[in-house]
Amino acid sequence: MMSVPTHSPNANRLLIADTDTEALRLAAVVAAKLGYAVASASNEAQFCDEVAHFAPTVILIDPQVLGANAFDPLRWLGVRLATATLILTSAQDPIPLTPEEINMAYGLEVSSMLRKPLDEGSLATALTPTLNLSRRISEADLRRAVDRAQLCTHYQPRMRRDADGWSITGVEALLRWNHPEYGLIFPQEFIGVAEEHGLIGALTDFVLQDGIDCVSGWNRAGRRLGLSVNLSPKLFTDVDFADRMSEFLWNHGVAPEQLTLEITESAALNDPSGTLEILSRLRARGIGLALDDFGIGYSSLTQLYKLPFSEVKIDKAIGMEIPQTPAARMIVRAIVDLGHHLGLAVCCEGVESKIALDLLHKCGCDHAQGYFIARPMPAEDLSRWIDAHGGAAALRAAS
Ligand code: C2E
Ligand code: MG
Ligand code: MG
Repeated sequence: MMSVPTHSPNANRLLIADTDTEALRLAAVVAAKLGYAVASASNEAQFCDEVAHFAPTVILIDPQVLGANAFDPLRWLGVRLATATLILTSAQDPIPLTPEEINMAYGLEVSSMLRKPLDEGSLATALTPTLNLSRRISEADLRRAVDRAQLCTHYQPRMRRDADGWSITGVEALLRWNHPEYGLIFPQEFIGVAEEHGLIGALTDFVLQDGIDCVSGWNRAGRRLGLSVNLSPKLFTDVDFADRMSEFLWNHGVAPEQLTLEITESAALNDPSGTLEILSRLRARGIGLALDDFGIGYSSLTQLYKLPFSEVKIDKAIGMEIPQTPAARMIVRAIVDLGHHLGLAVCCEGVESKIALDLLHKCGCDHAQGYFIARPMPAEDLSRWIDAHGGAAALRAAS
């Protein structure tokens, strides 16, 4: 069971992670003035506990000071898929890692870097934009985003294993919000709001429409790619969904086998009987179904055979750990074997290195997706990216 966060109702929650009592005190005063609820942590145990229970929206952290005894707080946050924005502090000049390096290495968003000693002015400057960041997602904002066409889709290539390497066979559509003031906003910040306020159907229609338009265009250009689209559980109320989907695909010249709908485990668990009926209809029409984010959170092995999935996707938190953690490699092998025994294709997400890709090849994983292959990108860039990688876009495996 996942532990239930008991965080404050304040939408702006700052966790200050440092051992310097003066830094802790000053940051707490400045943040409280700005309207943050504040918690602090001065060791590994407190830090892990506060991240789980206080669920900070922003973390002000000196990773060198907090990391001790082989504990790397940034890696730990990355593996947990923490969504908090980070403000890094350091007494070193220059600060050893850049925000881009941290994003690349751990998938974390760093909004600013502060050199110690901290002062009130620089703390307020760093904490103000992140305050807006966590306040900005309201229902009204999101409605405007839909109406004013501020949504866009990025596509991340997926590769399929063949005898001696990998080739591009499909893409996953990932929703983005191109905010006029704040730039690109990622789905974890707004999918929850959309679900809560009945806007998720409009967002999903947008992603399906854009994705199928793209695939239809690629088909006409002779480039046949599969499309994976994430589906929210809230949409499993309409038994005619499968019929409407088949008709839509047919009208766009896209084969049902080219579409895979991805559902997270928590979603699939909500209403087993209604879900089963809708999923069975989709599979009967040839549309693929993937169980997303497998191996973390609500992992339930029974979902794999009780619901008619065609694919299982190993969560990126496990994929990212392949190079450095023997247990992650064992888990991947076990899921690949299990999936194959159940007749499912297996895709591993979070492939960030050649080592991971080669290991997946060796253990027979069918598909791979991750930053080592490519980051999600706009459709125009995708065509160029595939061309640049040589049409069939193949990556050879290590011999
Ligand atoms: P997901 O479906 O598991 O998508 C994979 C996420 O992992 C994407 O994040 C992708 O950018 C990221 N990712 C891919 N490769 C790597 C890697 O090598 N390393 C790391 N650290 N991350 C990697 P993104 O785009 O922020 O999406 C997050 C989640 O939001 C998605 O997770 C999905 O659950 C949800 N989502 C995205 N688009 C939609 C949508 O249209 N509808 C719904 N309902 N949910 C969506
Ligand atoms: Mg997905
Ligand atoms: Mg996933």
